[in-house]
Amino acid sequence: MKSVAFLTLGCKVNSYETNGMERLFHDSGYELRDFAQKADVYVINTCTVTNMADRKSRQMLHKAKKMNPEAVIVAVGCYVQAAKEEVEKDESIDLIIGNNQKNKIVKMVEDYLSNQTEVTCIEEMKDFNEFEEIAIEDAGDKTRAYIKIQDGCNQFCSYCIIPFVRGRIRSRNEEDIINEVTKLVEKGYKEVVLTGIHLSSYGVDMQGESDFVKRKGEPLAKLIQKVNDIKGIKRIRLGSLEPRIISEDFVKVLASIDKLCPHFHLSLQSGCDETLTRMNRKYSSSEYLEKCDILRKHFMLPAITTDIIVGFPSETDEEFEQTKDFITKVGFSDVHIFKYSMRKGTKAAQMEEQIPDPVKTARSNQLIATGKQLKEEYEQQFIGSEQWVLFEEKVTLLDDEDGQEKEYWIGHNERYIKIACVVKNKDENKHNCLEKVLLTKKREDGIILSTCIFTD
Ligand code: SF4
Repeated sequence: MKSVAFLTLGCKVNSYETNGMERLFHDSGYELRDFAQKADVYVINTCTVTNMADRKSRQMLHKAKKMNPEAVIVAVGCYVQAAKEEVEKDESIDLIIGNNQKNKIVKMVEDYLSNQTEVTCIEEMKDFNEFEEIAIEDAGDKTRAYIKIQDGCNQFCSYCIIPFVRGRIRSRNEEDIINEVTKLVEKGYKEVVLTGIHLSSYGVDMQGESDFVKRKGEPLAKLIQKVNDIKGIKRIRLGSLEPRIISEDFVKVLASIDKLCPHFHLSLQSGCDETLTRMNRKYSSSEYLEKCDILRKHFMLPAITTDIIVGFPSETDEEFEQTKDFITKVGFSDVHIFKYSMRKGTKAAQMEEQIPDPVKTARSNQLIATGKQLKEEYEQQFIGSEQWVLFEEKVTLLDDEDGQEKEYWIGHNERYIKIACVVKNKDENKHNCLEKVLLTKKREDGIILSTCIFTD
């Protein structure tokens, strides 16, 4: 029996696609191995969102070759799509597959094994308008299953390489999504996360419209309602949303969906209007704030999280301060900070006045501290309240008070707050159990302690 090992870099869409490719190999009789083990085939599902992601992709390809020089090394995905020439020159790689042939990977590996000639399969992504179906049947030994419902992006933010390597918007057939979620729920998954490259555009390509604003999330809202109707599902989360999808009508529908978590990742990128314009983001900071107000009107204390890029070309100290103030004004429950990374082929890469790395690092550190404080303030409001937690894993932590090691079950509530419950009985297995707990106090490491009240 031949064996295959995978390594995935990048986003949840990549992880989903890896799950799909693993299933294809498994169905063809391959044994799946851990990446650290010796295997006949290594597949690296690469990422190109930053320079660091490119470097890591190259490193992992070389590492695989070193682990077994006889193995077939397959480079797949975004880095490959963006850096075709560089990848073709790399002698450690045998098979190169871009972003739209992943569901043919087994045949390509088999062909390579028969012919032993290096193969490159990279096509122009902009020419594709069909969603490539690569269904999953399992999401590993986890409680949360990520479901890819959409691919591609038409937005062309000036810093972003993704529309070039992922192509235009392609939405997944609703029936395939519902079938997949139904099977996963039957397998025991209680929580799903609907995800995509530009999730807010879900469905707009199906009726020949290219501007998602015209339909204000209508197809996405309908899909969430259908997922909500699946028997046995307990929680639905959404991947990153673009602020312009938020409208009174859209959020009213969302608020009527009982399994939908009050947790919204609304990507901001900058709190300064001039910077947003240079980024080609099509909203202003005040519009963004209105969207948060709509969410807060229809959901009680929703967790609103975001991404920020610091050090975008010509970002001044004053512009950075505007972003910092704006983050505090919005009162996010969590903020993910990224240092701007120049991507060849994008508009921002040609902009003058690139910001030196030490300045980016200093700004990033400041925003990390601001984000930490906001998270603290947000979570503190829930101490003393009862919350439902979906437990994920057992961990050992040092007790804040007596310094002794103790075992805890850790999980998240609907608002994605991390909550721990001390293990009382060593034989109990709370993995994938939904329990109602009382939040008692916040530990110094940020984890909130709780006591169990009720098990579903
Ligand atoms: S919306 Fe902008 S940042 Fe997001 S994938 Fe599309 S181009 Fe990139």
